Amino acid sequence: MALIVQKYGGTSVGSVERIQAVAQRVYKTVKAGNSIVVVVSAMGKTTDGLVKLATEISPNPNRREMDMLLSTGEQVTIALLSMALQELGQPAISMTGAQVGIVTEAEYSRARILHIETTRLTRHINEGKVVVVAGFQGISSAGEMEITTLGRGGSDTSAVAIAAALKANFCEIYTDVPGILTTDPRLVAEAQLMDAITCDEMLELASLGAKVLHPRAVEIARNYGVPLVVRSSWTDQPGTWVTSAKPQGRSLINLEIARPVDAVEFDTDQAKVALLRVPDKPGVAARLFGEISRQKVDVDLIIQSVHDGNSNDIAFTVTTPILKRAEAVATAIAPALRNQSNPKFDEAEVMVEHNIAKVSIAGAGMIGRPGVAAKMFATLAEAGVNIQMISTSEVKVSCVVDANQCDRAVLALRTAFEIEAGEQGAGSRGEFLTPNSCTDAINRVCTPHSPPPVRGVALDLNQARLAIRQLPDCPGMAAKLFGLLAQHNISVDMIIQSQRCRVIDGVPRRDIAFTVSRIDGENAKKMLTQVAGELGWGEVVLDSAIAKVSIVGAGMVGQPGIAAKMFEALAQQQINIQMIATSEIKISCVVAQEQGVKALQAIHAAFELAGSEKFVVPA
Ligand code: ADP
Ligand code: ASP
Ligand code: MG
Repeated sequence: MALIVQKYGGTSVGSVERIQAVAQRVYKTVKAGNSIVVVVSAMGKTTDGLVKLATEISPNPNRREMDMLLSTGEQVTIALLSMALQELGQPAISMTGAQVGIVTEAEYSRARILHIETTRLTRHINEGKVVVVAGFQGISSAGEMEITTLGRGGSDTSAVAIAAALKANFCEIYTDVPGILTTDPRLVAEAQLMDAITCDEMLELASLGAKVLHPRAVEIARNYGVPLVVRSSWTDQPGTWVTSAKPQGRSLINLEIARPVDAVEFDTDQAKVALLRVPDKPGVAARLFGEISRQKVDVDLIIQSVHDGNSNDIAFTVTTPILKRAEAVATAIAPALRNQSNPKFDEAEVMVEHNIAKVSIAGAGMIGRPGVAAKMFATLAEAGVNIQMISTSEVKVSCVVDANQCDRAVLALRTAFEIEAGEQGAGSRGEFLTPNSCTDAINRVCTPHSPPPVRGVALDLNQARLAIRQLPDCPGMAAKLFGLLAQHNISVDMIIQSQRCRVIDGVPRRDIAFTVSRIDGENAKKMLTQVAGELGWGEVVLDSAIAKVSIVGAGMVGQPGIAAKMFEALAQQQINIQMIATSEIKISCVVAQEQGVKALQAIHAAFELAGSEKFVVPA
């Protein structure tokens, strides 16, 4: 007998008939000898309807009242589903977040879960009842017992958190698609179903727009090793398993806020090659990395920054033994990258740096928490370490620093994030969790087979790009900038420092560019413009018409040519790449917003991710 948490999304409980169908499925699972906790969303588009009502009354509704309003949607569903189960002769009881004891921060509209009381849940389960819990909501612990919500799409997070707290055998997310597809089926009809994906891959995809799973649900699954599957409410197909490494015995106290970083990693065997002043036009990155991959040079980080005028810098890191080969390729290709349209520009210049190291913080708990990266930059600044390159992803922030400063940087970061030397993060590759009570089929997909280089492609149309010109190049600048953004609760996604350094007024300066959520763009610009003068920064520039397209796959590690293929797909469509940033398992490009969908489709096709059948998105 297993203890299973099942979550049903809005469409799955969108009508009386669908609620009855859900009751049938729950009933069948109980009859097969399992104990069930069900977590449900509001019916259909109820939450959107409530949001609309509020905005008809107030253009900027009070956040407390908003949570009071939105939490009612789920309450309707729990009562109806309990009744439907009781009609089938199945004892059931509905419970709100407060009744269960889903205790959250006192932060309306985006509360994080601190802990979940299990006593009442367990008592009802032991009495043979199905407990039907309202998703997306909780109650604040601080005195007032305020009703809070977790953020749109947050019922997934409620379900996985309950599964972690109850140490359930697994958590099933039932939705209106057969599982996780290689990309958003509304944009690419040929998107194909995956049978499994790792939590780290899913995190990189999820916050980029694969809205099928709330990213915070995946963070909890990874940190607590909750076996998780996304399945269709309409069929008995096996769906997609989201796998995680063996858990580290984490405490359930401060469930969503403890230890956002669980490892500090470093690599001293790195060298950097930069090409300065390459033309800003389609095909340049494709040509450079095409040649690099033909020479079998495996690159690690790649960044391309934006500049005034029409030239870019592209920099990449390689391991020291292949530096000579990488430098030779870059030097050979540089003259060919001469900016034809503007003869004023010199040909691209190659710059090589030998003594560098990469230091990273890794963990699942950084999404939507800008203070974590800011703390890394502040820690490095306090240790007197200058940051040469920054690469950010959902599960990792990496900084390239001088090799001589690596030990100091690692020690400072371990102290700041309370990481023991040698401690392995939950996301580290290695032994994967195989749920004890799983069937053979589950075991088959839960054990890792060699992962494909590209698992999925995601498009994010909700970002804006900010650039700050002429930031003084000294320790503490990134800390200052991203500390300010963190104080205003603005999360930063891609961060790119230019390679070019100009001396102005006797101070070496670089440009820095980064992306934020579009809704934060104007605010961030205003706030940064205000401080730019007194801090001696140059102009702050905002571009809201951007799109970010990313490929993700654990199998791209150590495989040359993946980046080249992505850039080539964009070049063939004459799509200009404005920014490039990579992590070990992700490559992201910023392109013009109106080319976003075309870029996604071209890349999805280039990696042959399309299935033979067209996918019809249900209404
Ligand atoms: P629920 O109400 O069940 O939580 P959601 O609407 O939140 O469902 O998420 C499911 C939807 O996510 C699908 O209908 C699909 O349109 C969309 N989606 C976007 N990207 C993906 C993807 N990569 N795989 C599957 N579905 C996706
Ligand atoms: N009902 C909430 C929403 O629509 C939560 C959820 O469905 O996950 O965002
Ligand atoms: Mg959802």
